[in-house]
Amino acid sequence: MTKEEKRQQEKLVADWQALMRTFIRPENDAAKATLVKYMEQILFGLQGFLKKHVGITEEISLMKLSSGFTNTLISETPEKKLADVISGIVEDVAPYAVNVASPYFVGHMTSAIPFFMVHLKTIIAALNQNVVKLETSKVFSVVEKQVLAKIHRLIYKKDDDFYYKHVQNTYTTLGCFTEGGTAANLTALWVARNTAFAPKNGFAGIENEGIQAAYQAYNVDRSVVLVSRRGHYSLRKAGGILGIGNQNIVPVDVDRDNRINLKKLLETINYFQKAGRTKILAVIGIAGATETGTIDPLRKIGEICAEKKLHFHVDAAFGGAVLVSEKFNHLLDGIETADSVTIDGHKQFYMPMTCGMVYFNDPTSLDAVEYHANYVNRLGSVDLGIKSLSGSREANSLILDSALKIMGSKGYALLIEHGIDTARQMADEIKTRPVFQLVTEPELNILTYRICPENIRLDLDRGNPDKKRRINHKLNDININVQRIQREAGNSFVSRTVLMPRNRPENEIVVLRCVIMNPMTDIKILNEILNEQEEIFKSKFQGYVP
Ligand SMILES: *Cc1c(COP(=O)(O)O)cnc(C)c1O
Repeated sequence: MTKEEKRQQEKLVADWQALMRTFIRPENDAAKATLVKYMEQILFGLQGFLKKHVGITEEISLMKLSSGFTNTLISETPEKKLADVISGIVEDVAPYAVNVASPYFVGHMTSAIPFFMVHLKTIIAALNQNVVKLETSKVFSVVEKQVLAKIHRLIYKKDDDFYYKHVQNTYTTLGCFTEGGTAANLTALWVARNTAFAPKNGFAGIENEGIQAAYQAYNVDRSVVLVSRRGHYSLRKAGGILGIGNQNIVPVDVDRDNRINLKKLLETINYFQKAGRTKILAVIGIAGATETGTIDPLRKIGEICAEKKLHFHVDAAFGGAVLVSEKFNHLLDGIETADSVTIDGHKQFYMPMTCGMVYFNDPTSLDAVEYHANYVNRLGSVDLGIKSLSGSREANSLILDSALKIMGSKGYALLIEHGIDTARQMADEIKTRPVFQLVTEPELNILTYRICPENIRLDLDRGNPDKKRRINHKLNDININVQRIQREAGNSFVSRTVLMPRNRPENEIVVLRCVIMNPMTDIKILNEILNEQEEIFKSKFQGYVP
């Protein structure tokens, strides 16, 4: 051990004094300057690697990477000082993270965020409010109610009186912040389930007595939720957690454009209602399917649900923010007929990980999941934890509210419109390239396509089923490999998924998927990405095409 190392180690003891120093705020100028220096290191040090790569796989395999993270012992004495921890992260960890901020990272729904979000997130950590109850958050509970009302208004467009009455009403709730879209969907279906199996003569409600007693009281043996085949898998998790079974999240076929087939939906509803003994808890419309960006015909589904008296939930985790764009909000026409709506903050509201939200048309809907505890969340208090799945949680509403103030709805609209416009440009470009086939037109800022050279498309259209299957199989293989090779090269990232045209498993095709969210991603960059894919295909796989 060198003298320096020894000196370092001597300092690093876990004693009371050292501990106290980490809790006391910096008092003198020198201490303050040090902390500012750390913040600089974080804000700018972390940016260094961002310029270089997009993926983690270029220089190091996951296996090699994980071999450096196998020590499972917690050291008894401190290992490092804050400064060393920060530089360790900046130098040894961050370079192997994924550069989601790169304009060449166009594969997923969470990517670049405005730089000011880092500051806002720091404020949240600095104040460390817990919005589960008023006693640990005070003004932040009030801020949350206000932001909830703002977004509720964006969705439901009720009148001034309505918002005046509910914005700070301690007995009603317009919505709830959650960990993410998964928890938001779960909350919506939780409410739908408890409302469908509400207390009645001699039955204390499903939340209290459980599923078996509920089915008995309501004379059914099954409950289902209907959603198109494009439904997000979080809905199946909710089916499991809510005890109805995930096989009862019933997939409804989609039409050629990947929207729920309304005829099939009606047939399915009629089938269950006629047969009896099955309760339909909810019908879900998707506003921005995760794989294709498709938006279901919300107004039509709303009409069906109103007629059949069913809970209508819209999963707008991805697409909800499009409501701020006057140019494109018509795409979500009918969303205001939903009983509940999921929107993710960390997707198109460009918030840092993680933030979900769920909204309800009826400000008393969340009463169906109300809980009280003796020490917090007392009856009639503002305590937000009374009607929320989470217990302790951060004051995410402040981040959203501040971002809305910094950007204005117009600023957000510009971001959203750039994504959609650019996706459309890319779709046009793909159509001019004989190597590629556009699989789904971008309705929002998501498009899917695949490598499928023009000359074999004829065979795919006309060939016998066996031949078609063989060709598709080969193409799937090629697309998987091209995506992988491009990802591993680390210059850009496009994701891939599997689609099932005409709802038939034997038609499964692998597609490449672009999500365009970064304002710095333009058609020039997208052309480079397509060029790279085309080159990989031509140099490695052209000969394999049947
Ligand atoms: C992302 C997404 C979800 C899940 O949200 P998380 O925030 O990842 O939990 C649900 N539904 C849709 C349509 C989504 O795009």
